[in-house]
Amino acid sequence: MLPAETQIARCVPAITVIPPDRDIATLSLLGLELSPDVWFDDGNVIVRAGTVGFRVFRGMLAQLSAPLETLLHGPNLAQCLVWENCPIVDLSCNSNSTDATHFLAAIFKPNSFDSFLITKITFDQISAVVRLASIYEIPNMRRKALSFLSSVYPTNLEGFVSVGGLRPSYCRDQILPVIHFAREHSITWILPLAFYRYILEMNGTTQVYGVEYGDMKVILSPEDQKRCYDAQHFLRISNTQAILARYSMRVSDAGCTGGAACREARLKEGADLLPQVGTLPDILFTWPPRRADLSLDSSSHSQLCENCLEDMKRWYSSRRKAFWDALPSVFGLSDWVALER
Ligand SMILES: [Zn+2]
Repeated sequence: MLPAETQIARCVPAITVIPPDRDIATLSLLGLELSPDVWFDDGNVIVRAGTVGFRVFRGMLAQLSAPLETLLHGPNLAQCLVWENCPIVDLSCNSNSTDATHFLAAIFKPNSFDSFLITKITFDQISAVVRLASIYEIPNMRRKALSFLSSVYPTNLEGFVSVGGLRPSYCRDQILPVIHFAREHSITWILPLAFYRYILEMNGTTQVYGVEYGDMKVILSPEDQKRCYDAQHFLRISNTQAILARYSMRVSDAGCTGGAACREARLKEGADLLPQVGTLPDILFTWPPRRADLSLDSSSHSQLCENCLEDMKRWYSSRRKAFWDALPSVFGLSDWVALER
């Protein structure tokens, strides 16, 4: 990506013939549609992105961003066409109309981009705001957008558990765009979980051929494909080994009071768990093994004796902590602390 300054420098009105009075009677002369989302009748500037015009407030944009202030108060403005006393500023070189809608809505309709709506905020909104806030040098806005992304791709186990593991509102088709976006903007701390989702949720076809996203095709780079392949292989082997070792071990030393029935239950739980290796994202995040007919919190269904139940819970707790801590290294990345720097 070009440095922001370079991109902004190119951002001049895409109009070659300027009438002497610069006033135009109707926006349709420019092929502009009025944005249904960001349009204020008392706005004093028209921002153009592609074929869409947004009527907003010049002073508010200018005080947010030094590059926008230059565009909105400098010589650029003197060249703009004017409609109903609103200069028409073209930002098409930095944004399509969809991204501009998200960006301008985040500024002028802040409730649409607030943390209390986090479950409704989409990756498209977040990526548009991060990209344009970077270009127009609005660090607070960029940070806010990234915090929303981090809530879905947390860097700590508590955060992962609190969002319910993998959030369903982020559909599968967005995993590759998220990784592509993270690589493009060096947002490395979301990569471990994004790669983890990739190996669990993407099928062979989408892993090899990628996915359509907007007007582009997104495919994982060969280097990242290799790291995901290696990680998937490693996780399947190590999880299988861990489950076999745990569920087939002698129970007498753990203070089992359930006798043969407890041992039988343990073997059955292990047998239920093994086929799920590599398919359940949270295989080591819940216990006992999740089954289709059981709720997530299914420890009350366990047939283990009380001592074995507690022992198994402790084992799972330490396993999942170790698993989480090791997740970046499984994908050949630096540890969580380094990734967050
Ligand atoms: Zn027992």
